[in-house]
Amino acid sequence: MKYDHILVRYGELTLKGTNRKRFTNVLKENVIQSLRSLEGTRVKCERDRMFISLFEEANVNEVMNRLTKIFGIKSISPVFKTTQNLEDIKQLCVSLAKDFANGDTFKIDVKRVDKSFSLDTYQLQRELGGVILKSVDHLKVDVKRPTHNIKVEVRKEGVYIYTKVIDGAGGLPTGTGGKTLLQLSGGIDSPVAGMEMMKRGVKIEAIHFHSPPFTSEKAKDKVIELTRILSERVGPIKLHIVPFTALQKQINKSVHPRYTMTTTRRMMLRVTDIILERIGANAIVNGENLGQVASQTLKSMYAINDVTSTPILRPLISLDKEDIIKKAKEIGTFEVSIQPYEDCCTIFTPKNPVTEPDFDKVVKYESVFNFDDLVQEAADNVETIEINKDYKTEKDKSTDALIDELF
Ligand code: ATP
Ligand code: MG
Repeated sequence: MKYDHILVRYGELTLKGTNRKRFTNVLKENVIQSLRSLEGTRVKCERDRMFISLFEEANVNEVMNRLTKIFGIKSISPVFKTTQNLEDIKQLCVSLAKDFANGDTFKIDVKRVDKSFSLDTYQLQRELGGVILKSVDHLKVDVKRPTHNIKVEVRKEGVYIYTKVIDGAGGLPTGTGGKTLLQLSGGIDSPVAGMEMMKRGVKIEAIHFHSPPFTSEKAKDKVIELTRILSERVGPIKLHIVPFTALQKQINKSVHPRYTMTTTRRMMLRVTDIILERIGANAIVNGENLGQVASQTLKSMYAINDVTSTPILRPLISLDKEDIIKKAKEIGTFEVSIQPYEDCCTIFTPKNPVTEPDFDKVVKYESVFNFDDLVQEAADNVETIEINKDYKTEKDKSTDALIDELF
């Protein structure tokens, strides 16, 4: 039997009172966008749930796969819809039960939303349980721990029958929580930080600092690929790639070797702030995690943070590395992040960076050279690309062309 609808349950939306309408509208738009390239679906939004109609040509598995990635969805169920006619309901339950394996048990769970329906909950449960037992002899009833829980929802417009409830991504619909700029390195942490914020309904653009020739095209492609993976959930994401070589060289020339890391981060933040202003975002997101490396002590964060009054969100600040890795694996960025291409910080990292930078010294070392022009220049020469889930790098394209030629 082929499912004809998918029932979509909203996540925390129900808690959002007056905002609910706006939230459901955004969620509906996100679902439509995500399913756009697939055939045979129609989205219908109700106050506290959504139904996706599936037509003959619909690929149910692919539709479900995409829905489970959309933030703001608590769970989904593939369902069959029929009329309120008792015979129709019975027939559907029986066809469904015929697919259950020999020796399986079941339970009927009726939800009678339409109170005008002729039978009460208990009567309908008994009718349906009875007809299944009579028509399919290899099944038994077990109300405590059934193999299959057949849920029957009686509503005004029809009756929905289903057995599976599949977890959604949770969180809030992307686009309901404002815009942030994510500092995206090629490492494990920052893509996870971005995903955590997107889960709270926040839209992100990403900024990456690139120092050719010290960092390779491959390092850049890695960040593009990470952005592409993030975009699978939320649609196109803009990636701003900042040429950082001149700044990085100057930092290494004029700042005390133990303090170059602190100043590098401060310069990154200054450039980030200029781009943030330009794109109308309200906060910066990074993958900092307390105690992980030299730049991530409180004293270090204090010194770095000093160059901006823009809120910096650090969703991973208190997590254990193991948990971050687990999340990276779940969202599919881990394998890309561990590819060994250096990002600009790794290359310029001093052997012995100060872990507790003295704020006065930070300012003193930086005062030897006026970085303003270099910061502005880096921001002015940013390369911005919009990346969606089908984005191909130049390298991907040439590989494709080569394959086309061969076959
Ligand atoms: P990650 O795994 O995200 O690289 P990390 O543990 O390696 O983090 P750092 O290298 O100290 O930590 O970087 C801390 C944060 O600074 C990163 O999570 C990221 O948000 C930002 N960052 C570092 N390098 C870059 C870069 N080249 N471009 C953009 N942001 C960067
Ligand atoms: Mg890093």
